[in-house]
Amino acid sequence: MWVYLAKPTRSKSLTQLRDIATSVTPNNIDTKEKVAHVRYRSEAIKLYAKKRACGVCEGCGANSPFETKSGPYLEIHHLTRLADGGADHPENVIALCPTCHRRAHYSIDSKEFNEQLSMLVLKIEENIA
Ligand SMILES: [Zn+2]
Repeated sequence: MWVYLAKPTRSKSLTQLRDIATSVTPNNIDTKEKVAHVRYRSEAIKLYAKKRACGVCEGCGANSPFETKSGPYLEIHHLTRLADGGADHPENVIALCPTCHRRAHYSIDSKEFNEQLSMLVLKIEENIA
C-alpha cells in the first residue's frame, strides 16, 4: 500500500512538502516501504528548505551563486537542535550559499554561527506558520 506515500516533487507547495517531511512513518508497513518513506521524508525536507529560501541564502541573504537545471543552487545544512522533531524537521534545516555552508562546518566561530542560524530559521518558520 503506497497510498499514504506522497512523492515529494518541486511542484508541491511548501505546506505539502512540510507535511511529507514531518509525516510519521507508519509501523504497520514492511521494511522496504519504511526505507522508501524515510527517503521521501529526506527528499521532502530538502525541497522544502530550498522552496522556503526562494533562491536566497537563509544565512546571509545573498542570492544563490548560480542557477541549476532544477533551480537556484543552495546547499541544505542540518542544524543540531536539542528541542527537535528529528533531522527532517523544518526547524532543523536551512538553505545556505556554499560560503555560509562551509562556514557552518569549518570556521573558527562555527558553534556561534550555527546558533545564529538556528535563531534565524526559527524566525523564518514563525513567519510561515
Ligand atoms: Zn550565505
